[in-house]
Amino acid sequence: MGAGQAGMLLALGLQQHGYQITVVTERDADTIRTGRILSNQCMFDKALRFERQQGLNFWDDRAPTVDGIAFRATAGISWESPLDNPGQSVDQRLKMSDWLTEFAKRGGEIRLQRVGPADLEELAREFSLVLVAAGRGPQFAQLFARDSALSPFSEAQRGISLLYVKTKGTEYQGVNFALGPEGEFFSLPLLSVDGPRCGIYFSGIPGGPLDCWDDVANSEDFFERASKALERHFPWLASLLVDAEPGGPLDFLKGRIAPVVRDPVGTLDSGAKVLAMGDTAVTNDPIAGQGANMAAHCAAAYQQTILEQGDRPFDEEFMRLGFQRFWEIGQHATRFSNDLLLPPPDHVLATLATAQQVPEVAHRFAELFNDPRDYTGWLTDEETAIRYIQEATAR
Ligand SMILES: Cc1cc2nc3c(=O)[nH]c(=O)nc-3n(C[C@H](O)[C@H](O)[C@H](O)COP(=O)(O)OP(=O)(O)OC[C@H]3O[C@@H](n4cnc5c(N)ncnc54)[C@H](O)[C@@H]3O)c2cc1C
Repeated sequence: MGAGQAGMLLALGLQQHGYQITVVTERDADTIRTGRILSNQCMFDKALRFERQQGLNFWDDRAPTVDGIAFRATAGISWESPLDNPGQSVDQRLKMSDWLTEFAKRGGEIRLQRVGPADLEELAREFSLVLVAAGRGPQFAQLFARDSALSPFSEAQRGISLLYVKTKGTEYQGVNFALGPEGEFFSLPLLSVDGPRCGIYFSGIPGGPLDCWDDVANSEDFFERASKALERHFPWLASLLVDAEPGGPLDFLKGRIAPVVRDPVGTLDSGAKVLAMGDTAVTNDPIAGQGANMAAHCAAAYQQTILEQGDRPFDEEFMRLGFQRFWEIGQHATRFSNDLLLPPPDHVLATLATAQQVPEVAHRFAELFNDPRDYTGWLTDEETAIRYIQEATAR
């Protein structure tokens, strides 16, 4: 259920292994393609690799590469590091509509339906496995209980906004990340339904001056406010919007996302079990650009677990095994994303400052976006982080 990054990747993957898959989703390919933008969707090599292995990388010859991470904090830290392998951002309107079309072409069944919790009973009777890949939000909150031990925030920590802009094309060919006391900004090159664009993303601490998007009515308003916000909060990036123009009328979005980790196994009134994936299971604030990457890793973990299950039933034990396999990486993306929402502790600031002088440190930090498994054992422990700074500096 759900035709997003998580659901479509798994549906297409299993279809290629001979499984009979039905995608139940609320919007068809055309409606997705012509609708509002959905995400900044920067995906890194590790996640892209799974799509490429399955031949689902339809845009590699057209999508601009994301070659590195440039980091700058108003506190005076500034560095840039290439990624080992480039990332890529393909407008989810383009990607999901192409994938849905391909899925149907390969004989997959698509049912257009907005599914409510009650409809899941019927699906659970009909199918041997029901996966709920319906994205973030409260619609299935009752079914998949919030795991409070793994969810440190009970509400959104940022007011967020995103606009696609048409730029001169001379900007940094990577993720341009800026950090200030009022919030964050990042921009990156992407392939939209209308061609190459730059995705500009603002993340404002609630109630602060960068949390200023609620009343923005259209792309032009947004562009004007974004230009002012850049000049005021991240002036070294202001030139990005000089001689640029906003994308189409639906090329902006705004909102708030409450990060949450849920119990991925839901039990229906009948006792039947359904399995959550992607944002429905784990929603992170987009600050670290991990959601679409984790949706892909979740699809990869579930696919492998389904293949290994063979003819055995898709019971709760199978579901927990699949999620556990995903959580091996998902837990680190979650910790990384949640920690970035808090003021950085001194050892993290010291690491980011050292990255200015020591490219090895900058590179290690940049690669966290690709593979966050390095994060927890490194930057959540002060002693380890300080020792690493000393060792890397000596090298
Ligand atoms: C502003 C912003 C910027 C972001 N930037 C990045 C980034 O740079 N990198 C990154 O990795 N991630 C980023 N993300 C996060 C990323 O977009 C999501 O984590 C990812 O798309 C989740 O995929 P999903 O398949 O779980 O859910 P979704 O993509 O939300 O897909 C859900 C699908 O389910 C369908 N659906 C929903 N409800 C129902 C229903 N009741 N019945 C039937 N169908 C339903 C929807 O129509 C949709 O097809 C960003 C998110 C935002 C909002």
